[in-house]
Amino acid sequence: MRDRVDRFVRTQVIPCEPVLDAGGPPAAAALADLRVRAREEGLWALPLPAELGGGGLPFSSYADLAEAEGASDHGPAALGSAPLLDVTMLARHASGRVRETYLEPLVSGRIRSCYAMTEPDVPGTDPFLTATRAARGPDGTWRISGRKWFTSGAATAELVTVMARTSGAPGDREGLSLLLVPTGSPGIRVVRELPVLGATGQYEIELDDVRVPGDHLVGGEGRALDVAGDRLALGRTLRCLRWLGQARRAFDLMCGRAAAHGGSRGPLADHQLVQQHVFDALLALRTTRPLVHEAVALIAAGRDARTEVGLAKVAAARMLQQVADSAIQVHGAAGLGPDTALPSLFRSGRTARILDGPDELHITSVARRVLRGYGPGPVTPG
Ligand SMILES: Cc1cc2nc3c(=O)[nH]c(=O)nc-3n(C[C@H](O)[C@H](O)[C@H](O)COP(=O)(O)OP(=O)(O)OC[C@H]3O[C@@H](n4cnc5c(N)ncnc54)[C@H](O)[C@@H]3O)c2cc1C
Repeated sequence: MRDRVDRFVRTQVIPCEPVLDAGGPPAAAALADLRVRAREEGLWALPLPAELGGGGLPFSSYADLAEAEGASDHGPAALGSAPLLDVTMLARHASGRVRETYLEPLVSGRIRSCYAMTEPDVPGTDPFLTATRAARGPDGTWRISGRKWFTSGAATAELVTVMARTSGAPGDREGLSLLLVPTGSPGIRVVRELPVLGATGQYEIELDDVRVPGDHLVGGEGRALDVAGDRLALGRTLRCLRWLGQARRAFDLMCGRAAAHGGSRGPLADHQLVQQHVFDALLALRTTRPLVHEAVALIAAGRDARTEVGLAKVAAARMLQQVADSAIQVHGAAGLGPDTALPSLFRSGRTARILDGPDELHITSVARRVLRGYGPGPVTPG
């Protein structure tokens, strides 16, 4: 299965990347075509529940494929695994009616979803400051107002999960809830696109007195941070797996270039400083992979994986940035130009160090958790 996913991504998805990256109607048509082919090859929605039309692979098995699938940023969308986080969250925490209405269309790819937690002018690392508000009317309907940004895929999604304050004041540690909002609801609009180092896909959105039914609360009132915590642990680990696939791709490009190009003194591969790039990149890849799979194993077993996810996230983000940077260096100017995927792989590595929590957040929370084990009382090493 892993080989089949790998082949599909290399031969079908990667050649379409220039069209998919450009966005707009041609990208939508190319993606639709890839999805048809993924279904024909029996590779559709592999980690999603079988009873909803997915492949039913448990997370621990899917983890072996996610690296191959994620070698292209478009792999998860083309192969139907992109809604894994939302489907998992809604299956666990949404009301019966919400599950019946939205889960099957999400798995089939007929609708798409996105997640809006981060807000302009509010540090994303401090969700207690969330300013978006939701209030319940006498008929149970929720009325939501606020602004979110860097909401990935908001312009093409039919559903957005919004973190909002349902009680208390900004700064309070209680009172945050998640609400599922159909993007066609009156009062919700995309304010602008936010290109990230030139790439499309991120948006700022505004909610102005948007109304959703009472049962669109996800996980109960005041439970946003518990639900988001589970979602982020799974999401960060998934991203790490995909970054491993992207780093492997950059590594292959670097080694191919080193072997095939050179000057009057022989191939680049003969230069020790190029060999240093190759060694350091391989070391980063090989030392990161076990950390990521340690986090996968704990999540699959339903155990506390906070330390392992934090270590994996920082290591994988740094590793992708380092490997892509070395590959660019070995290519010279060609590595910065439009003829290879290296600029986009480097962009992934750079953004990886910020999205889903910046490095600093993970470093401090892992270190604090480990240090607590060295306080007064018995020592519990990290
Ligand atoms: C490509 C991309 C896609 C994204 N997709 C989504 C999405 O779909 N939905 C969504 O809700 N959000 C999304 N985000 C937002 C992302 O999750 C936030 O950017 C991230 O959590 C950091 O929040 P912030 O940008 O507000 O940074 P801030 O919280 O303002 O932090 C800024 C900087 O301050 C420093 N800092 C912060 N906390 C600490 C600390 N504890 N110790 C030391 N230094 C610290 C760090 O240097 C940090 O980079 C996306 C971002 C990117 C770049």
